[in-house]
Amino acid sequence: MFLKQNTSNIVLLLCCCMLSLPLSLSAIPIPVHGHFTFDGNEFAARDFGNQLHSLPWAVLHPKKVSDVAATIKHVWQMGPAAAPTVAARGHGHSLLGQAQAPQGIVINMESLRGEMQVINGKSPYVDASAGELWINVLQHCLKHGLAPKSWTDYLHLTVGGTLSNAGISGQAFRHGPQISNVHQLEVITGKGEVVVCSQDKNADLFHSVLGGLGQFGIITRARISLEPAPKMVKWIRVLYSDFSTFARDQERLISAEKTFDYIEGLVIVNRTGLVNNWRSSFNPEDPDQANQFVSDGRTLFCLELTKNFNPGEEADIDKEIKSLLSELSYIPSTMFVTETSYVEFLDRVHTAELMLRSKGLWDLPHPWLNLLVPRSKIHTFADGVFGNILTDTNNGPVLIYPVNKSKWDNRTSFVTPDEDVFYLVAFLPHAAESDELQHLVNQNRRILNFCDSAQLGVKQYLPHYKTQEEWRAHFGPRWEIFAQRKSAYDPLAILAPGQRIFQKSISIL
Ligand SMILES: Cc1cc2nc3c(=O)[nH]c(=O)nc-3n(C[C@H](O)[C@H](O)[C@H](O)COP(=O)(O)OP(=O)(O)OC[C@H]3O[C@@H](n4cnc5c(N)ncnc54)[C@H](O)[C@@H]3O)c2cc1C
Repeated sequence: MFLKQNTSNIVLLLCCCMLSLPLSLSAIPIPVHGHFTFDGNEFAARDFGNQLHSLPWAVLHPKKVSDVAATIKHVWQMGPAAAPTVAARGHGHSLLGQAQAPQGIVINMESLRGEMQVINGKSPYVDASAGELWINVLQHCLKHGLAPKSWTDYLHLTVGGTLSNAGISGQAFRHGPQISNVHQLEVITGKGEVVVCSQDKNADLFHSVLGGLGQFGIITRARISLEPAPKMVKWIRVLYSDFSTFARDQERLISAEKTFDYIEGLVIVNRTGLVNNWRSSFNPEDPDQANQFVSDGRTLFCLELTKNFNPGEEADIDKEIKSLLSELSYIPSTMFVTETSYVEFLDRVHTAELMLRSKGLWDLPHPWLNLLVPRSKIHTFADGVFGNILTDTNNGPVLIYPVNKSKWDNRTSFVTPDEDVFYLVAFLPHAAESDELQHLVNQNRRILNFCDSAQLGVKQYLPHYKTQEEWRAHFGPRWEIFAQRKSAYDPLAILAPGQRIFQKSISIL
């Protein structure tokens, strides 16, 4: 152990020398407009998951795209033995160290935020820095009466961070994930080249980077597709006690031409009410409404829907909603409808974040598990997990909703289950105590073991694996192309080491 520690210090020292980045800011020879920090970098060793913490050797706070390019080029030119690893860090809302670079260089992408440019017209779009938060993208686009089409449930995440995964929410059934709604990217490869790519230009890099877990390049700018923004939403929740009826209604809604604008669902197991739920929009001052959602001892399924509208359209929208709801088989007495602005709806999790922060409940460990389950296996999954392995949902929400695979582009790096419809099932707990954390980690393991032994063909979303064998299994037949793309765009395997897919300086094919 001592020897290992010592060796890594020598390597570190070598890195410093070869990079010519001495531990003083003034002597850095890489021409950057921003700056490096070598102390006070604890923020870069933390993430939302709050379970793994690795300090980088240095953090780059770039001011210009050329700062990122110059740094990576310098690292690339150091060659395989000496080059340190480099991780782009968006908002650091990863779960298990994916944006960390143990003893390497973290690039603080948020310091690259800058001007956004909206182009209106037949196919409107915004050009935004990859370090920009989605909430800022939304606020900026709204000034032009426009908004992106596809979202995540939480908007305080960076553009580059979600595009490196997928970006999935209740609009994905119609628009696909966020990675299906990007026209163009500016990327810095693992060789330090700045490349603009799209479906038509450098298409392989474009597809590699989308859902690419940061493996092929650092996204510095994205051109995101927009649509006219509605002003308001009707937000509806209804309950089911039977999973089959719930799933049938969800699937019917995502395949219909005329349907809602957002479709998600929640599993509620042995809960005392949704008022405590960190994602909940329920008004705690209205206990009558909240009490409808008591689930002690039972498993309930909550369908969550919205319909967008503008002032003046309310009567028509109400009629349309009534007609759509009349096709569904929820428990009639459980309908809850509210009306809110589009922005408030999209930014709903932030409202809960502020509340949880005030109670000291936001910065806890988050042993989350996100799965994509093929439609044909969702009933087996629900029978085996809800109310069995998962005996309550008091620590945080469990989301479940189907999406249409036709809206995903299978040329990107993202791998989905092999069926036309698959479900996102997201277990999103927090753990206040270490016992609780262990219990939740074990529960996740049991869920994964159940999926394996029942051969459900499940894929992890925001995946985390410890061995390359597991990554190969995750990508299945797509592994070869993933590894080939790695050799093409990041041959030294310096990028995004926290994903633990490739090891630097080790043959990757
Ligand atoms: C409260 C909360 C709610 C969430 N809700 C959703 C949801 O509804 N839907 C959904 O799909 N996801 C959701 N997520 C997950 C989220 O999309 C991912 O964790 C995302 O990576 C976080 O973005 P970030 O900016 O914090 O990325 P980081 O954690 O900083 O980075 C994530 C990964 O991407 C890499 N990376 C970051 N920026 C770049 C870049 N510019 N170029 C290349 N690689 C880069 C990093 O190196 C790292 O490997 C949620 C997360 C949280 C904490």
